[in-house]
Order: sequence, then C-alpha cells, then structure tokens
Amino acid sequence: MKGFKESLPIKTCPVCQRPFQWRKRWQRVWDEVKYCSKRCQRERRRQSEIKQA
Ligand SMILES: [Zn+2]
Repeated sequence: MKGFKESLPIKTCPVCQRPFQWRKRWQRVWDEVKYCSKRCQRERRRQSEIKQA
C-alpha cells in the first residue's frame, strides 16, 4: 500500500470549487466525472436550465 494515496488523481469540482479524489466507483468513468457529488451535478444542471430558460 506504499504510495497508494499519492497515486490517486484529484479533480476540482466546478460547482463547489473543492478538490475531490478518485474513488473506486468512478474507476470506469473517471474521465467523465466532473463533479464531486450527485448533489453538485444536479446543482450544475439546475443552473444551466435556468440559463437556458
Ligand atoms: Zn462539488
């Protein structure tokens, strides 16, 4: 397990501006993951809907 944590990639959530770390459940979709949580994803979507309307 040596160096395991250091190998985890990190992204910054565009909604809450917080860095979030790779999780095992994202291993197949990591390239598509943009938000730290479903809550942020939903928030982003809501904002874009308001913009379009
Ligand atoms: Zn977030």
